[in-house]
Amino acid sequence: MFPKINIAIDGYSSCGKGTLAKQLAQHFEYVFIDSGSMYRAVTLYLLNHQVDVELNEAVHPLLEQIELDFKYNSINKRYEIHLNGENVEPFIRDLKVSSKVSMVAKNSDVRRKLVEMQKKMGISKGVVMDGRDIGTVVFPDAELKIFMTASVEVRAQRRFDEMNKMGEAVIYEDILQNLTQRDFIDSSRDDSPLTLTNDYRVLDNSKLSQAEQFEIAKTWVEEIVLIEGKP
Ligand code: C5P
Repeated sequence: MFPKINIAIDGYSSCGKGTLAKQLAQHFEYVFIDSGSMYRAVTLYLLNHQVDVELNEAVHPLLEQIELDFKYNSINKRYEIHLNGENVEPFIRDLKVSSKVSMVAKNSDVRRKLVEMQKKMGISKGVVMDGRDIGTVVFPDAELKIFMTASVEVRAQRRFDEMNKMGEAVIYEDILQNLTQRDFIDSSRDDSPLTLTNDYRVLDNSKLSQAEQFEIAKTWVEEIVLIEGKP
């Protein structure tokens, strides 16, 4: 049997990191963890408690009330985020949460709490985790680091189509603005900004189908696993 590795997938908002992570996890029988869902669940909790998410002194005392867990859903075949015991997957991707999550993710107390959990998840290897700081902070030793990118218009259109399909009434310009704003905050914040370092392999999927992007990443994993597996 080949040794398992950790795969870090970072990149801008809505560029298909989750889709690729799911494809790889399914193919190699790895665990897929969507780290963004953790920031989103914290944001949901703070919004439900009418907290000003930009005020550290308001956010800090609530953090110890927040318990996050991933539970496996055998129908969807994926781990889903639970906030204080409740499955919050259906509530964390709307524009209300999306418009605040990057402000929450700037908060170092929040990051410390979530990064500690994420690091533990990778101890036994065999994890594909996507986010913004996975290859730089969470798994700096990940054997494979992928940086995904695509033009902001392509990403906004894909997200718009996806939300439309789910029956959500959304406006393309609102999504475009949200992505642009999140990209800016995520790349310019002081704590663990999204950064392309030279140990990443870049995957621009503006013109790639899901099948094509999967083939490229699968080959990268196979190359690395073969090297790792050599006596
Ligand atoms: O991946 P997703 O778009 O769901 O992430 C939502 C937000 O959570 C990002 O825009 C970013 O602000 C934050 N995030 C982060 N670090 C991660 C994952 C997500 O700061 N590892």
